[in-house]
Amino acid sequence: MLLQGKKGVVVGVANKRSIAWGIAQAAAREGARLAFTYQGERLKESVEELVKPIEGSILLPLDVTKDDDIKAMAETLKKEFSEIDFLVHAVAFAKPEELDGNFVDTSRDGYALAQDVSAYSLVALTRALLPLMEGRPASIITLSYLGGERVIPNYNVMGVAKAALEMTVRYLAADLGPKGVRVNAISAGPVKTLAAAGIHGFRRMLGQVSSVAPLRRNVTQEEIGDAGVFLLSSMSRGVTGEVIHVDCGYHVIGMFTPEAAPAEG
Ligand code: NAP
Repeated sequence: MLLQGKKGVVVGVANKRSIAWGIAQAAAREGARLAFTYQGERLKESVEELVKPIEGSILLPLDVTKDDDIKAMAETLKKEFSEIDFLVHAVAFAKPEELDGNFVDTSRDGYALAQDVSAYSLVALTRALLPLMEGRPASIITLSYLGGERVIPNYNVMGVAKAALEMTVRYLAADLGPKGVRVNAISAGPVKTLAAAGIHGFRRMLGQVSSVAPLRRNVTQEEIGDAGVFLLSSMSRGVTGEVIHVDCGYHVIGMFTPEAAPAEG
């Protein structure tokens, strides 16, 4: 029970395939009490149904681009939880047309929107929730992807947003460390989710990873959940400003030649 007695908020559960849901299930298994958010009435019922079995959980509306929503969420959390020990930030968005074709064609508003939802939201949420975390050994985690470090076909504007997100993690870690709050990212390998379905050629990405990654498979939602628990718990108390790759080792491969690969078995 690595999170026994801890309370946290999970932003980014859309359905049972969401990475945030994998982390939430692992956190609940380890004894955490959770608050979930949903974006818009459209998703309220399905998220409500999904999180119902998680004992003691609460559900709040939140569009991360709306400051009023963020303020209201922080107020409700203060009332319901008094203080919190962690934040899971697992949100990203880009216009579908910007996740196909050439990056050079990215529009001004598409670029700004991707940055706002996928990177700035971590700053805004952290600032609003800091009064509930300050002075506690609290932990904030976010979700990134290799496309923020290297060029991945069709990831385009989202890759630039992930680069900003990873740097945001480092600046926030420096700001918040003296207040006892840690900030880290998980750079996850590809997982079939709603958001991933918007990336042109995503299925091919899954095949490429499973044939080339050192572990010769794709990462699971459960593995990302367990890595999340590590970063949220005191097991990682000496780690902040870090980006941990949970991708079956894919990021270490520079060039892959099947004939040079060690024989399996
Ligand atoms: P997902 O299930 O579709 O989750 C994305 C979440 O972001 C959804 O809950 C979505 O809500 C939410 N969101 C988008 N715009 C929002 C807004 N303005 N306000 C509040 N919430 C908003 O997909 P996922 O793959 O688990 O994504 C979670 C995180 O993991 C993202 O940061 C993603 O980039 C990252 N990641 C994913 C992969 C992968 O292969 N799946 C790999 C590495 C990193 P709505 O559905 O209501 O829009």
